[in-house]
Amino acid sequence: MKQSFAVIGLGRFGSSVCNSLIESKQEVLAIDRDEDRVNEYMDIATHAVVANAQDEATLRQLGLNNFDHVIVAIGEDIQASILVTLMAKEMGVSRITAKAQDQYHAKVLEKVGADRVVHPERDMGERVAHQLISKNILDFLELSDEYSIAEVKVTNHAYLEKTLIDLNLRQKYGLNVVAIRREGRGLIVSPAATEIVKFNDTLFVVGTTEDVEEFDDKMN
Ligand code: ATP
Repeated sequence: MKQSFAVIGLGRFGSSVCNSLIESKQEVLAIDRDEDRVNEYMDIATHAVVANAQDEATLRQLGLNNFDHVIVAIGEDIQASILVTLMAKEMGVSRITAKAQDQYHAKVLEKVGADRVVHPERDMGERVAHQLISKNILDFLELSDEYSIAEVKVTNHAYLEKTLIDLNLRQKYGLNVVAIRREGRGLIVSPAATEIVKFNDTLFVVGTTEDVEEFDDKMN
C-alpha cells in the first residue's frame, strides 16, 4: 500500500531513506535547507522543497500533518532536530522517526514525541563489530537492549546432519531458530523441528545477545 513520507534533512542518512522510499514507489516529500541537496530530488521525489524546517509556518504550509510518516534526519544540529520533532508532534503527525546522535539526544527525542529513534552509526558499528569478531556471524541486529537476531553460519561438524530437535538450541542456549538459509534452497522460514541442518547452512537465531554470542562461540 502506498504511504506518504516527509523526509527532513537530506544528508547521507536522510538521502538513503529517501532513495529507498522512492525505489519502493512511496509518496515522498524531500526537504532540506540546502538547495543543491534538494535539486537531486527534484525529478525523482514526489515533491522536493528547499526550506528551513525550524520554521513552523513553513511546516504548516507544507501540510506536514497530512503525511503518514515524518522522518527527521537532521543530525549535527541537535537543537534543530529536537525542535522539528516537537513541532511535527504538536502538528499531529501520526508517526515520527528521528535520527539521534547519541543516547542523550535520543532521550530528548523520545520525550518530545518521536515514535521511533534510530541510531544508524551506532547500530551499523555494532553490526560490523560482530561480523568482525566472528567469522560465522554474517549479520547481527539488536532487537532491544536485551535481545538480538543473528545469522550464524554452521561450520562446526558437531552440529551437522542433525535435526533441530537433536540440536535442542532452545534448551541449551535459549535460542529460537526462525529461519534457515540453504544454498540452492533459499530461505526456509519457520523450519520444522525435524529439519536436518546441513554444512554451510545459515541459521537465523533469536535470543538474548548473551545467548547468541555463547552459541556463536561454539561454532568457532
Ligand atoms: P548524515 O550523517 O546523515 O550525513 P548528519 O548527521 O551529518 O547527517 P547534518 O549534515 O547536520 O546531519 O544534517 C543532514 C541534512 O539536514 C543536511 O543536508 C542539512 O542541510 C539538513 N538540515 C539541517 N538543519 C536543517 C533545517 N533546519 N532545515 C532543513 N534542513 C536541515
